[in-house]
Amino acid sequence: MYDNPDGVMIGLEVHVQLNKLKTKVFCGCVTDYHNDPPNSHVCPVCLGLPGSMPVINKKAVEAAIKIGLALNCKVEEHTQFYRKNYYYPDLPKGFQITQYDFPISSGGYVMIEGEDGELRVGITRAHMEEDPGRLVHEGTIDKSKYTLIDYNRSGMALIEIVSDPDMRSPKEARRYLDKLRNIVGYLDVFDGNLEGAMRVDANISIMGGQRAEIKNISSFKGAERALLFEIVRQKNVLRRGGVVVQETRHFDEAREITLSMRTKEEAHDYRYFPEPDLVPLKISGWAPAIKETLPELPDARRMRFVEQYGIKDDHAKALTSELKLAIFYEDVAKKADPKTAAVWVCDVLKGELNYRDLTVEAFKKEHMLSVLELLAGRKITEDGAVDIIRTLLDKGGSPEEIIKEKGLVIVAGDIVETAALEAIVENPQAAADYQAGKVKALNSLVGVVMKKTKGGADARKVREVLIAILSDGFYPPIEREKIEKTIIKIGDVMVEVSKPIANLLKKMGYV
Ligand SMILES: [Zn+2]
Repeated sequence: MYDNPDGVMIGLEVHVQLNKLKTKVFCGCVTDYHNDPPNSHVCPVCLGLPGSMPVINKKAVEAAIKIGLALNCKVEEHTQFYRKNYYYPDLPKGFQITQYDFPISSGGYVMIEGEDGELRVGITRAHMEEDPGRLVHEGTIDKSKYTLIDYNRSGMALIEIVSDPDMRSPKEARRYLDKLRNIVGYLDVFDGNLEGAMRVDANISIMGGQRAEIKNISSFKGAERALLFEIVRQKNVLRRGGVVVQETRHFDEAREITLSMRTKEEAHDYRYFPEPDLVPLKISGWAPAIKETLPELPDARRMRFVEQYGIKDDHAKALTSELKLAIFYEDVAKKADPKTAAVWVCDVLKGELNYRDLTVEAFKKEHMLSVLELLAGRKITEDGAVDIIRTLLDKGGSPEEIIKEKGLVIVAGDIVETAALEAIVENPQAAADYQAGKVKALNSLVGVVMKKTKGGADARKVREVLIAILSDGFYPPIEREKIEKTIIKIGDVMVEVSKPIANLLKKMGYV
């Protein structure tokens, strides 16, 4: 049982930008502004000019319902927009169109891996709103001499997902965020790689004290760091006999500290009232049809992978952490051994992609299949396979070309076996020592085999072959029970091997 020593309570408000929609939420401005100059995707509506009127984007409402359903929320019968009144330069209208009473959906949950097993994090609500513009500062926000404003982002559709304060550590908060990105990523409504696609406000209190709200954290790592910092800061305030005040704080990503911005507003400070320019929406009939379009979500897919392909849960979890990766794996697993495919996609390819900050789209399925096929046919070593994958990512080409170019000649299994036998024959004492329980004696034999195969053999494979010959007394490891063992004399040393091995050694003229 996790006893939460600091009495930490964390609730998160996550803003998901629906950047895969073609147009903004209340106007026709197109959303693919990310490579364009500032203030080039704007119109009277998203600039908040007087007299302009918003028109709702139906696709945005559908996407919001989709997200609500995927988060196990109840989709409401009616939904309505409100004006949240405040002045800030990124909000030229002087109010933000958002939701207050009658959000699109509420009362859901997400399961995450908690400090002590599975943790259910409640979803208070998921509602729609418009994104404000973007403020750009020189250096840090508190030292910058000026503020620049880019309204390209103004009016982008956002879903704000508000959690219950169920998380008890920064690590749990991080896992919740990962899970949320994972789920929403499956719905094809946003591209998580675009700048500002997911932004986090974090509420945190300790020891039942007042909560601080940390605003606009742009990365998940940042959220974890900000929360860690806040716990230490609030503990220090209490230790000095002070009181933690309810306030809004800013996270300075560069310095990894939070700074006080203003005392926290109450809801009534915003004077919410229904947006008179948008009619209330009756959405009760929409949910069933949208539910039909929901894809298989990460948790369900993870369980199916374990069942259908017989892979480890850890692998299934990693493979379903991103939709594209899950599809990649499944396509490969249909044409190769699923377990081997899981190992190579998860443990090797995923790591190599991460290292290069690439997604799985950077690697061709056919190449993964060729690599697996070459491995299965024992045509390349495992080290050779890793080398091929790295070269494909760095320089391109095809596995066949790389094999030729690098001279990754393949030390076939029987060559390794012959070399292993030779190594044993030439070093019978090491073989006998190993059989007598001196495990380290194996290393010198591995060294001999590596030398004989000029480094072309896979060291893991060599160990495996040597152990098979020396421990079980036979190789290849088939029909173990049926193979009789015999003791042979190599030089002055007695070594126990299988009869086929003994015969082979005789044929080779060693005994
Ligand atoms: Zn516009």
